Amino acid sequence: MIIKTVNLETVCGVTSRLPENDKPEIAFAGKSNVGKSSLINALMNRKAYARTSTQPGKTQTINFYNINDALYYVDLPGYGYAKVSQTEKEKWGRMIENYLRRSKQLRCVFLLVDIRHEPSANDRQMYEWIVHNGYKPVIIATKLDKIKRSQEAKQLKLVRTGLEIGNDVTVIPFSAETKQGREEIWALIEQLTEC
Ligand code: GDP
Repeated sequence: MIIKTVNLETVCGVTSRLPENDKPEIAFAGKSNVGKSSLINALMNRKAYARTSTQPGKTQTINFYNINDALYYVDLPGYGYAKVSQTEKEKWGRMIENYLRRSKQLRCVFLLVDIRHEPSANDRQMYEWIVHNGYKPVIIATKLDKIKRSQEAKQLKLVRTGLEIGNDVTVIPFSAETKQGREEIWALIEQLTEC
């Protein structure tokens, strides 16, 4: 995909109304620190447009990035951050659930998991939410550069067994360092959005 323009168009907090976009949306979900901002930056061809966890003040919002005036990347709030209260966690859950239920333009949810670890109970719950809302998730196994090539097949199997998914679900290994996997993800986005 050729990225011509990128614009953070809408930022939604818990009480904000979701925008009624007229262009296709691709959403990104995953636990905090999984590499979601890094993936979104790579898919926007920008170094640091989406804020990464290392930057302070990262708030829990749903961010809509307008890409080429043709589609949106939707950055959903990261879950599973240990240091927040149960009330906060429930708020995020409601935000995500609300978006999944209401968006009329959502074409696909990309669920990110770290290729080094077995998916957590939160990851499984997120996977089930996505399916429950009528979408077929695509799994992105992040931080590919952090494992040896010889471990890749074993780790991908762990991702599949941990999420209890069959071979009908697409799993794409990705590295924000080397950009391995990016072309495949772009091709999939083009196919899903017809952009
Ligand atoms: P987010 O909280 O899901 O948005 O995660 P970030 O994109 O902020 O990434 C969390 C940390 O992991 C940061 O220090 C990133 O530099 C690092 N990181 C993200 N993706 C990769 C990757 O593919 N490879 C490596 N080596 N580090 C990564």
